Amino acid sequence: MTAYTGTPVVSGKAYAKVLWASPQIQLGTCTTFLTPNQHETAFEAFRNAAQKVSDRLFERSAESVGTPSDILAMAATLATDPGLEERVKNYIFNENLPATYATDKAAHEFADTLRLAGGYLAERTTDLLDVKNRIIAVLQNKPEPGIPQLNEPTIIFAEDLAPADTAGLNPEMVKGFVTVLGGPTSHTSIIARQMGIPCIVAARDLQQIPQGTWVLINGDSGDIYTDPNPEYATAEVTQDNVLRERARNWQGPAQLADGHKVQLLANVQDGTSAEKAARFPVEGVGLLRSELGFLATSTEPSFETQRDFYTSVFNKFPNHKVVVRTLDAGSDKPIAWASLDDEENPALGVRGIRADGVHPHILPTQVAAVAAAATGRETHTWIMAPMVSTVAEARWFSSLVKPYGLKAGVMIEVPSAALMINEIFAEVDFVSIGTNDLTQYVMAADRLNSHLATYTSHWQPAVLRLIGQITAAGQKAGKPVGVCGEMAADPYLACVLIGLGVDSLSMAAPTVGSVGVQLSEVTLEQCQLAAQAALTIADPDKLREKVREILS
Ligand code: PEP
Ligand code: MG
Repeated sequence: MTAYTGTPVVSGKAYAKVLWASPQIQLGTCTTFLTPNQHETAFEAFRNAAQKVSDRLFERSAESVGTPSDILAMAATLATDPGLEERVKNYIFNENLPATYATDKAAHEFADTLRLAGGYLAERTTDLLDVKNRIIAVLQNKPEPGIPQLNEPTIIFAEDLAPADTAGLNPEMVKGFVTVLGGPTSHTSIIARQMGIPCIVAARDLQQIPQGTWVLINGDSGDIYTDPNPEYATAEVTQDNVLRERARNWQGPAQLADGHKVQLLANVQDGTSAEKAARFPVEGVGLLRSELGFLATSTEPSFETQRDFYTSVFNKFPNHKVVVRTLDAGSDKPIAWASLDDEENPALGVRGIRADGVHPHILPTQVAAVAAAATGRETHTWIMAPMVSTVAEARWFSSLVKPYGLKAGVMIEVPSAALMINEIFAEVDFVSIGTNDLTQYVMAADRLNSHLATYTSHWQPAVLRLIGQITAAGQKAGKPVGVCGEMAADPYLACVLIGLGVDSLSMAAPTVGSVGVQLSEVTLEQCQLAAQAALTIADPDKLREKVREILS
């Protein structure tokens, strides 16, 4: 049994045969060039292939529902994107490249443009390169790459998984994902979390494990064992399944083994996702990502439209807490009517509350719309601003919210806000730690860059120590501290966070069961010991091991 390792992102164990997905198409160097009389035919061949790929993806989209359907439809649109077509035309007509090479070059060039744009557009590069592979496969008369129809339990290995690969997968047959690239917030991790299957990313030596090898993967430790003893592997997975069954049946509300209460909340983005979240044992919404509800609109929605949007969420949680985050436009969430174009470094640019300097009317209108939706109902409405980095911003935001009688808070995701936390607490009623961005900014590591997973790992002690300073300030001020980044969904880290003094954890609703079960098995003293480890152990892997030992 040989061991390999990667960054664990979704817990659980799986034992099955490996299937490598989406092998990259290697075209080699182009040696045969087109003559001018072949240009039209080559371009026509590209257009037909792109149309075929688009049609197939749209067909799969129509057969799926919800997020997978949206993802497939988006990939289908990319296949016939004029930006791609124009570039292919240029390579065929001006550089005499055959359709396959022109497609390859054009897609990489287009991908670079998307990557430079940053944020959501940058995330589309994996989709674009996947679509490119499909078009080339059609041009070469080969089956489209990706994941074939699965007939037996399988662990999918890939360089990185494109949304079009994972959308519509048979959840009965897919037992886990392991990728060479990817990070804690990459597409693969998000889908694995939704499917509730173990997932490991940034497994550098994965290519050494061939197709068809039996592997045991551990999404808690990041270990991948090849050819393990079948009885041992089956026993490990059976025991893990018992835990997962308990997570599915967990009813809430959350409390530790000694009765210490913990509030578990859901991250949502609109009324539909709030409705789904309300089916899980959550005690409310800890993060309404309001900007995601308005991503598709090209102009600013009216006050009434915004009010109705918040009403649709409040309706699903009539007597619960709902924390609305004001527009986090910019960077990875560009919004046509609120973001700036052409920023050199959008993650360090005009995003979140900073957009107020450019569009001063947006935030007051949004707060008024939230307040109007909250009027006359039992929902406990809290409002918080994203990307706050100065005390003055916190003071100003609070002054905007307080006249409506709602709780005013800020997200702590910028290191400067964490360092000024005592003064910030003097201005607001609560804070919520956005660990996705806090990690990105503390570690100076782009959260979307799949080469930086070790930096953006949730176990980086630098981030945990900073969280310790925030919770200490919260306790001193007697004000609540929540966590709403992906870190909160990791059962062991959830215990560490509680040990550090966090009051509430907000996460994708399907993950509350596994967090709730883990919390129920440990005492506050154990959580505090785990937190102590986070404040003293410098190495992320050693820290994870120690925390597991303390909490197991
Ligand atoms: C975060 O940064 O942790 C967070 C919750 O906000 P988002 O992921 O939407 O940036
Ligand atoms: Mg954030």
